[in-house]
Amino acid sequence: METRVTLERAIRIACANPMPRAVENVPLEDARQRVLATPLPSLVDDPRFDNSAMDGFAVMSSECGSKGTRLKIIGTSQTGGEKPPAIAPGEACKIMTGAPMPDGADAIVMVEDTQLEGGHVVINGPARPNFIRKRAENLSKGQEALPEGIQLSSATLALAGTMGHGEVPVIRRPRIAILSTGDELVEPGTELKPGQIYESNSHALCSLVEMMGCEATRIAASNDSMAELRRTLDSLSPYDAILTSGGVSMGEWDLVRRIMEEEGELAFWRINLRPGGPPLFGTWKGTPLFGLPGNPVSSLVVFHVLVAPWISESLGYHEEMGPRLSQKVSVKLEDDVAGAPGKLCLRRIRIRSEKGQLLATTHTHQGSGNMHSMVVHNGLTLLPPDTDGKAGEAIDALWLI
Ligand code: AMP
Ligand code: MG
Repeated sequence: METRVTLERAIRIACANPMPRAVENVPLEDARQRVLATPLPSLVDDPRFDNSAMDGFAVMSSECGSKGTRLKIIGTSQTGGEKPPAIAPGEACKIMTGAPMPDGADAIVMVEDTQLEGGHVVINGPARPNFIRKRAENLSKGQEALPEGIQLSSATLALAGTMGHGEVPVIRRPRIAILSTGDELVEPGTELKPGQIYESNSHALCSLVEMMGCEATRIAASNDSMAELRRTLDSLSPYDAILTSGGVSMGEWDLVRRIMEEEGELAFWRINLRPGGPPLFGTWKGTPLFGLPGNPVSSLVVFHVLVAPWISESLGYHEEMGPRLSQKVSVKLEDDVAGAPGKLCLRRIRIRSEKGQLLATTHTHQGSGNMHSMVVHNGLTLLPPDTDGKAGEAIDALWLI
């Protein structure tokens, strides 16, 4: 068991125990927000055939040099229709946006630049070759346009459709159990007895788990009792991973740490991080388990910097385009921000874009029990150990999504 590890080391240790990655095929219309399990090749050329980008007339550009050219209309090319007959000198073909180009034509005149005269069209504007969308100018058949690990949403879903996929291979959502621990915790909406507080961490953690493309199950909070904790952890064997919150500090009643030390496989305990120093990672009867701190801010912050990277790595998410919760950016500080001796310091900051740069301010007090600070801020500093941030300085930060 290692202790007081760096964040990088903690991630590495956890990644030695990944979640299982399984693949399932789902209909495209059920694939929203899912993660692609293999690269997806195009089954067709895009566009499939040369077609018009405008409603207008397909013409020979060499014929349309002077304004007022009069051409005979020999047919109409419609979307979904057959390829129209070829045009010869002196002829034009009426054409719709997306309809196939007739042979012989090398340019389009927009309908706005024409005038009809019986069976003829008078050309009053330019004949433009760039209004032809060329076969395969976007994608060629067989081209892998969507990489493995990408999250399917809006444009990526539409592109999967463009490429002809009615079904897509996606990563099966791993099932993650979220277990709060603490005698003091009761459900929001119920009456509080002296000493009790509302349980809140599990709601944030379930939401983050789902944003990371996994299935979250909220387990009823466990009391601070070894027997109950053991019974509950044993009941979680069908899950792919367990996230607990609370009970990992130095106190006598920090039983998640004790039970993992005595009966689980503990890989590390404590990270050089502020806030969020006490987490542990190990396995309970083979199931990966993160013991997150109970302090509400700490539990969220540790999810962002430790659990989210572990999920990404376990499941092979695309670094840029896979599900993720934050983006590393450089921000200019507007206030002094104190770092922490020997620890990576994750102060809450509000990041905003102004005049081409990202500025960061801090507002409320930074107690690790103050969930309001996670709502009014949208980022975390990445201040290296023993480093303070000074107003005017550029520092690395995580911009939270
Ligand atoms: P612990 O890590 O168990 O010592 O808890 C640290 C602090 O976080 C204590 O003030 C707890 O009451 C609080 N806490 C622990 N778990 C939760 C939870 N699930 N929701 C809200 N607060 C919690
Ligand atoms: Mg506790």
